[in-house]
Amino acid sequence: MSKVACVYCGAERSSISDLTSSFCRRNPNGDYHVPYEGSIKSKYSCKYCGAERSSIADLTSDICRRNPNGDYHSPSM
Ligand SMILES: [Zn+2]
Ligand SMILES: [Zn+2]
Repeated sequence: MSKVACVYCGAERSSISDLTSSFCRRNPNGDYHVPYEGSIKSKYSCKYCGAERSSIADLTSDICRRNPNGDYHSPSM
């Protein structure tokens, strides 16, 4: 079974309901994890600045100067 990852912090759970019922420290718009809806990749790039990391967790733990909605990189779909 594939896992679901949070778009804001990269936390992984086995289902969307598990993911969205846990608190997310990086969600600028709410309190809970939000599922990443793009495809699983070997590299993720930031949709605002193009920075690349090998995981969503790595990408979203770095500050992004171009993100108008928050402080961290955000994976493109
Ligand atoms: Zn999260
Ligand atoms: Zn970025």
